[in-house]
This record gives sequence, structure tokens and C-alpha cells, in this order.
Amino acid sequence: MFIDSHAHLNISDFDNTRNKLIPSLLSSSIQVINVGVNKYSSKRAVEIAEEYDKGVFASVGLHPLNIRSDFTEKKYGKDGEKESELEKEFDVKEYKKIANASKVVAIGEIGLDYWHRPKGESKKAEYKKLQMNIFNQQLDLAEEMDLPVIIHSRSSFDDTYDVLQKRKLKGVLHCFIGERKDAERFLDMGYVLGINGVIFRTNMDTFLEWVPMDKILLETDCPYLTPPSFDSEINNPFSLSIIAQKIADIKAINRTEVEKIITKNTKNLFNI
Ligand SMILES: [Zn+2]
Repeated sequence: MFIDSHAHLNISDFDNTRNKLIPSLLSSSIQVINVGVNKYSSKRAVEIAEEYDKGVFASVGLHPLNIRSDFTEKKYGKDGEKESELEKEFDVKEYKKIANASKVVAIGEIGLDYWHRPKGESKKAEYKKLQMNIFNQQLDLAEEMDLPVIIHSRSSFDDTYDVLQKRKLKGVLHCFIGERKDAERFLDMGYVLGINGVIFRTNMDTFLEWVPMDKILLETDCPYLTPPSFDSEINNPFSLSIIAQKIADIKAINRTEVEKIITKNTKNLFNI
């Protein structure tokens, strides 16, 4: 059994395939957590989860690249789609309402993304402050609702760490790209790391050899980050087995063992 701890089957890329894809995942013992990046996609994640008795869950949050500001250069998702709409502020009341549904297992994806920062020191500082402010509001909500968090951190490990270490939350650093030294401080705080198809693009073999098995989750971040050998036009949770196999090879353990341990980690974190 696998659980995709970070999928976006809630977005329009899957509008034509979702109704067949999800039942076929479930009958192959693959469960999914669909992750929201703004109000609309968070609501969609919940609606889709509610269509199934079990095995499909939702996470609710405002992605840092979906914050509307004078500096926003790049947004998450495709132009013209509701799922990529920018939001000027974090609408706590509305998000809380969405997150109240029983299928919601986390607040996310939320965090800090300094990759697409504006030029000029004062603009940069203002941009970071805005992201930080909305990140903190969402962490408050996670604390209040007693939910784990799904963190997006790009070019921002130091600030992400500073913010998280002031709190007592549980969570996952999704799409972890880094080395042992980047990971250790987050693991020490009790966070786990989301491993996805990025391991086929960036050489993380030494890191994967080191990282303890009880500290990682599997994710696809589909429709993005398709493993090169996956035979599908866009990525989907069926590719989890390819990622698991690579981890099994590097750690010289059996793939079923990887599957078993990681499923347990995922259930533990999200209380499912
Ligand atoms: Zn994502």
C-alpha cells in the first residue's frame, strides 16, 4: 500500500481523467492526499475527498506563490484557472471553514518561496515580510485546529527553520531538495521530509543513503515532477512505486519494506 502524501489531483489537469484515475488508484491500494494552493483548489481537494468513502484526503492552504503582491512574478498553476488565482491576504475565516471538513488532514501547502523574489533590497525585504506574515497566520490556524503542516520551502531554509522552531507543530518539508546539513535541523525538530521525482533530476543518492527511513514520506507532486521512466503523459500517484524502488535500491532493502515503513510514517503524521 502507498499513500501519496502530496498530489494535486484537485487541479484542472485531471478534470478529464480524475473520475477514472482515483478509483483505479484505490483499487491498487494507493491512497492520496490532494493539496490545495489557494481557496479554490483547497475547496476542490475537500470536495473530491468527500466523493470517496475512504483513501482520499485533503490539505488546505495558501501557497506562497499565490499571494498577490506588487512583486509577484510567478504564480502557481496555469493562467486563467481558478486554481491559480492570487489572494491578497489570508482569509482565516474562510480557510477555517474549509479546513473543518473531516477529510482534511493538514494545513498546506504553505511556506516561503524566495526563488522568484523581486530585485532590489527593499522590495525583497517587503516581499519576504509579506510571505512570512501569511505563513505565520496559517501556522496559527494549524495550531488552533491541531493539524500537521505541509511546508513548501524554496531558497528559504533558514527563515523556514526560524519560523517553525518557535512552534510545536508536526509536519513535512515537501519536495525536499538538499543535503544532510539542510535536513538535520528539521529532523531534530520532529519534521519529516517529502521525497518525490526530483531524486531523478538532482543527485541526492548520498543524502538518501543517509536519511533514516522513519523520517521520510513519499509524494509525487503530480502533475509535476514525473519520474523519467514513468509511462504517462503527466505524472500521477501510480509513479510512487518508481520512487520507492529507487530508495530501496539506494538503501539496499526490499521495496515492500520501503512501502511498509513509509506508509506507517505517513499514517502517523496525518493521523489516518
Ligand atoms: Zn505541490
